[in-house]
Amino acid sequence: TCTAPVAVALDGAELPPGSGLPRGFGLPDAAFAHDGQITRRAVRAVTLAHLAPRPGELLWDIGGGSGSVSVEWCLNGGRAVTIEPRPDRLDNIVANIEAFGLAGRMRAVAGAAPDALALLPAPDAIFVGGGANAGLIAALPPARLVVNAVTLETEALVAMLHAEHGGQLTRLSVEEAAPLGRMRGWTPARSVTIWASA
Ligand code: SAH
Repeated sequence: TCTAPVAVALDGAELPPGSGLPRGFGLPDAAFAHDGQITRRAVRAVTLAHLAPRPGELLWDIGGGSGSVSVEWCLNGGRAVTIEPRPDRLDNIVANIEAFGLAGRMRAVAGAAPDALALLPAPDAIFVGGGANAGLIAALPPARLVVNAVTLETEALVAMLHAEHGGQLTRLSVEEAAPLGRMRGWTPARSVTIWASA
């Protein structure tokens, strides 16, 4: 594990460099079929870090949107059900399941939480990316829980959850470089507040 600075040979290079999907979190937004409602790359990476997928674990992804969070959970070894009421977004979720070759491990479920959760197998982790309110949170089974908030109403909810249950509360403000006239400028996205129960 420790050598003088000479030529080094390492195991694990069975595949040519650059093949396959990158491991870890935060694929580019453009890697997914989406309609603009997608948890953006930088926020998605931090969200997945809090969700902390382990091999074989089951995620409920409530408010699936494009399914990007479920896709990255599954690419990191998990299984996921993605709950989304809008048919056009379900089409994107199904397209992403196919494109990432996840048909056996990821399912799209049409419907709104909490009603659509009744028949699902028990989760190890739950992500709420849409539809969060006190009633929904109270209806969830015990699991690692991560809630992302963009609105003031949902931010108030996660502040209360943090006060009641502890865990970690993180507010992310991401700016990306974009054209500004003939120059470039920092373009801020809406801040996202992430509450993770553990
Ligand atoms: N994490 C997603 C983006 C979520 S956008 C991604 O990366 O693509 C929030 C989604 O929550 C929207 O698509 C909205 O239709 C859905 N939603 C709103 N209320 C819901 C509810 N009660 N149950 C399930 N989904 C809901």
